[in-house]
Amino acid sequence: MISKLIESAERDCAAVFREIDAIEESCTARVLAAFQKERVGARHFAPTTGYGYDDIGRDTLERLFADVFCADAAIVRPHVASGTHALAMCLAGLLKPGEHLLYATGKPYDTLDGVIGISTCPPGCLREMGVSYSDVPLADGLPDVPGVLAALRPETRVVALQRSRGYASRRALLPEDFDAVIAAVRAARPDIFIMIDNCYGEFVRDSEPRGADALVGSLIKNPGGGLAPTGAYIVGTERAISRVEARLTAPGVGREVGSYAGSYRPFYQGLFMAPHTVAQAKKTAVLAARAFELLNMRPDPAFDAVRGDIIQSVDMHSPERLVAFCQGIQAASPVDSFASPEPWDMPGYQNKVVMAAGTFVSGASIELSCDAPMREPFTAYMQGALTYAHGKFALQTALSAMEAAGCL
Ligand SMILES: *Cc1c(COP(=O)(O)O)cnc(C)c1O
Repeated sequence: MISKLIESAERDCAAVFREIDAIEESCTARVLAAFQKERVGARHFAPTTGYGYDDIGRDTLERLFADVFCADAAIVRPHVASGTHALAMCLAGLLKPGEHLLYATGKPYDTLDGVIGISTCPPGCLREMGVSYSDVPLADGLPDVPGVLAALRPETRVVALQRSRGYASRRALLPEDFDAVIAAVRAARPDIFIMIDNCYGEFVRDSEPRGADALVGSLIKNPGGGLAPTGAYIVGTERAISRVEARLTAPGVGREVGSYAGSYRPFYQGLFMAPHTVAQAKKTAVLAARAFELLNMRPDPAFDAVRGDIIQSVDMHSPERLVAFCQGIQAASPVDSFASPEPWDMPGYQNKVVMAAGTFVSGASIELSCDAPMREPFTAYMQGALTYAHGKFALQTALSAMEAAGCL
């Protein structure tokens, strides 16, 4: 019964899949143009050691990211441990004591709570450093431009925007959805830095958000293409990157140091693969959405909605259904298929979280993964898939696990 359902869902997705293919083609052309402009050669893949002065692999990779994202400068480093680390570094670089950070897309992703010091204030958080914070919720799913302008203070230095929905029930923003708020803040306050958390959004649309001072994301999500083993990126204006680089290493030293004794090849190859891998992940999400719709569940986004990120959610309405689904995804994984995920406390998250992630790169969410905070309405957030064939297989396994548990 489940396999029939999946086949029927797949037939319904044909037109949406064609649009995904078209976006993959235009993103691939943009990435290839950057590789050719930077004259990438095998010599750029070589490992380096020590200070890493004149590390051409590192410097060329950073120029490549700047080109792909239409930015002036970039920081792309294996040593930046995660997206949260990159966002924290960016904020710490742009903000000084006494200044104010305004989030213009409502409350940020869970792990930013401790970075900023919103509800807790761990040692070193921005609040402890004398930075104040406020946010303006979205209005009808879009940045509330008059609300944002009204919330600016003389000491506001950074306006931050988040593209992906994170664990919130809202639609992911499209690159063009940032244009009005960026133009309005620029016109009112040219001194302000604009930062966009671009996690999960890269290569989902033809273009990336324009006009920000910093665009930030993780390399074990979209732009690493499933091959980058670790790392994160920040691309943006020279004005912003030249402040952030002081927090990457040391003031006065900045981007000039940093070696990597592994090969840079997976970062280059991962960026080249990323438009394709993101397309595979999107097709998996679209298929899942259609299958849920045929089961009279309410996936978000709907299968044929315009997508701004790779996340697919569906309300499971009970802990049993949520856990059964995640266990099915895990059982269909290439790695750790024998493990069975259980709800667990995670650093940086407020509720217990159940996570299915049988990935080659530990924790990589461009690989098929499913996670959920254990709170009403027991929403499963699934994302990623290195190949559509695997995504389809895993969906079939997970729905069958729910059926076998008697809770479909
Ligand atoms: C994943 C994510 C982050 C943080 O990334 P980590 O690499 O998990 O630290 C921040 N913001 C959003 C919207 C994300 O999806």
